[in-house]
Amino acid sequence: MLPQIPSPMKSPHLSGSRGVALLHDPLFNKGTAFTDAERDALGLRGLLPPRVATQDQQLERVLGNFRRKENALEKYIYLISLQERNESLFYRLVMEHLDEMMPIIYTPTVGLACQKYGHIFRRPRGLYITKNDKGRVKAILQNWPHDDVRIIVVTDGERILGLGDLGANGMGIPVGKLSLYTACSGIPPAQCLPIMLDVGTNNSSLLADPLYLGITEPRLRGPAYDELVEELVQSVQEIFPRACLQFEDFGNANAFRLLHRYRDEVCTFNDDIQGTAGVTLAGLLSAERLTGIPLKQQRILFLGAGEAGIGIGDLIVEALKLQGVPEADARRQCWFVDSKGLVVKSRTDLVEHKLRFAHDHAPLGSLLEAVHALKPTALIGVSGMPQTFTEEVVRAMAAAQARPIIFALSNPTSKAECTAEQCYTWTDGRGIFASGSPFAPVTLNGVTHVPGQGNNSYIFPGVGLGVIATEAAHVTDEMFYVAARKLADLATPEDLALGRIFPDLQRIREVSLEIATAVAEVAFRRNLTRLPRPDDLRAHLRGMMFDPKYPDYV
Ligand code: NAD
Repeated sequence: MLPQIPSPMKSPHLSGSRGVALLHDPLFNKGTAFTDAERDALGLRGLLPPRVATQDQQLERVLGNFRRKENALEKYIYLISLQERNESLFYRLVMEHLDEMMPIIYTPTVGLACQKYGHIFRRPRGLYITKNDKGRVKAILQNWPHDDVRIIVVTDGERILGLGDLGANGMGIPVGKLSLYTACSGIPPAQCLPIMLDVGTNNSSLLADPLYLGITEPRLRGPAYDELVEELVQSVQEIFPRACLQFEDFGNANAFRLLHRYRDEVCTFNDDIQGTAGVTLAGLLSAERLTGIPLKQQRILFLGAGEAGIGIGDLIVEALKLQGVPEADARRQCWFVDSKGLVVKSRTDLVEHKLRFAHDHAPLGSLLEAVHALKPTALIGVSGMPQTFTEEVVRAMAAAQARPIIFALSNPTSKAECTAEQCYTWTDGRGIFASGSPFAPVTLNGVTHVPGQGNNSYIFPGVGLGVIATEAAHVTDEMFYVAARKLADLATPEDLALGRIFPDLQRIREVSLEIATAVAEVAFRRNLTRLPRPDDLRAHLRGMMFDPKYPDYV
């Protein structure tokens, strides 16, 4: 028997592992770091090179191997194979070099990995549930080897990052996202479950690719699709009743519909809509400290009225309502321009999620006209259309505001509405800039400006930890509001002096713990949990966080 392991990773399914099986068990494997006593007690004698290594020495080795890989995709493949053989070492590497690792395990490299998933595939990870599995979803969930699943990330692969329909190749997204949950907020790996809901793909090049691994049929739509999702949601309640179900990278229409359908019924959220909203609201709240203009007096103009844009608008409205602003007034602070121009009441082409932000105003065809007419204090780009914040648009913002807020959030870098340098140059250094993908600092007239990165990883890991620690019945807008408030407050005066409106990403564990504590407080305050409130909530949450240092087995 493997001795007691003082870690939430402990799983009854694995507690009997020894010998070769233990070396092949990534949750428990320590590789060359198994001590002499462990080698004797666990049937490992002779199965490992004789010299016992420390985890620090192993870390040095894997970091060197990682850095020797010639391109980002090779680095991704290397990291995934490390994760598959030794999760503790993988997480120490990721956590201690987050700036270097995050762009590999998540955007942008994970996008490339998804595009080539069938070609670089080594070992399966996560669960695949297909359109042919109707009636046996519960049985598939029961095949998962861990029974205390707390966070599930599910995608149907229809809108992977900015890359569109990648079908079953989208599995890289739940896998990567869950790695960030563990790295950023310490949710133990054995409590994380990636799910690919393979309902087919309309991507013709994937359908024609002999190495594609998913169902080679067109996407399932209509009632049959809804029934499969419903079966998944209900099966999760039964098999993993303490799990939060996070929807990720679904197509626009399904994303809003499913969020609406399930948010008041089960513990669920959509990071593309709500996590993006949380980090962007945090950016606006943080920028208050630079502009001196409170959120209540902001006028926010969005370019793009999709999942990200409408999600941000909805959360701003909730934030304003919590600050005492009537809903109708709150909505009038948010304006949208989509591909057809300003979203106004007289338009007849608006889909449902845009209607609540359609105001009385003359139709305007372009973003520039809208900036001139509305004189927004903040401009938020979530259109996926590069270089749409033109020099004229940015200069018009700068003419109307002392400190214009300009967030070019479209990913990847090549899709950003403008670059950091353009923003700072065209606003004479007065712009408060944040982007979706990272931009390097810019020095202008001897002053260095550090762009903020509106990275969802600031928000979802902390929200997830707070939700699962309290076993909250629902994930509410108020939770994202307090998460945003907390994140904004954690930007230091030194950060702000550089123009950086978010805390340094290196502080992510501390940030996530603070966010989780605030989210858990909401769960207790709003009676969303039946668990008793621990006296020291923060210490309780800290105690739940996964530590990648090896425990002693003997
Ligand atoms: P989406 O497809 O749901 O929405 C895109 C919207 O842009 C649609 O309303 C579309 O009509 C509009 N649009 C397209 N072309 C336009 C044009 N020329 N002018 C004005 N509007 C136009 O996509 P989404 O999920 O909302 O994501 C949008 C962008 O935001 C993506 O590039 C994504 O990478 C980015 N994003 C960033 C973050 C982040 O930084 N944290 C998070 C989520 C999404």
